[in-house]
Amino acid sequence: MAVMDWDTLTEQCKSCTACMLAETRTNVVVGVGVAESEVMFIGEGPGEQEDLKGEPFVGRGGQLLDKMLAAVGLSRHHNIYIANIVKCRPPGNRDPLPDEQEACIKWLRNQVAIIRPKIIVCLGRISACRLIDPNYKVTKQHGEFVSKGGILMMGTFHPAAILRNPNLKPAAFEDLIRLRDKITEICEHTKLVY
Ligand code: SF4
Repeated sequence: MAVMDWDTLTEQCKSCTACMLAETRTNVVVGVGVAESEVMFIGEGPGEQEDLKGEPFVGRGGQLLDKMLAAVGLSRHHNIYIANIVKCRPPGNRDPLPDEQEACIKWLRNQVAIIRPKIIVCLGRISACRLIDPNYKVTKQHGEFVSKGGILMMGTFHPAAILRNPNLKPAAFEDLIRLRDKITEICEHTKLVY
């Protein structure tokens, strides 16, 4: 795979029409954060607010995510990058279909190739199944680190799932504590901010 530079990637991704989601989107949601990050968070796809604003995780789920990340010194403004498996909103917030994921994954692959993260955190089932293991079970495997292609990968709960079931919050927070410990152990320039 030829790796694009960041500007080319952003420009081409924003005009992509490779799947049906192009017909119903308002904005292509490429990603947000610091391009030199050692840690990436990957969700499944934009929701309504994200589609309107062109930024991932800006609705209620995103606000919860930001709060939980802040508690472990992580922020989209300082030390992480956040993206999704698909860059355009699936209508009605349905799961992105396999062929949509397949059409879109090249953008994420390019983002990963440019950023070269040490750790990827998959937010929710769709992302973990796509990136870690097709049979990934978030409820059983969340918080476990798996090495793939030289990157440590971990799955955890999607913020929308935590909003639906607040009982998941302590387990999700434990995952973030494990993440923070792993960052401290292996990352070279990530500064936690409080
Ligand atoms: S979801 Fe991805 S592949 Fe489909 S149109 Fe949007 S950017 Fe292109």
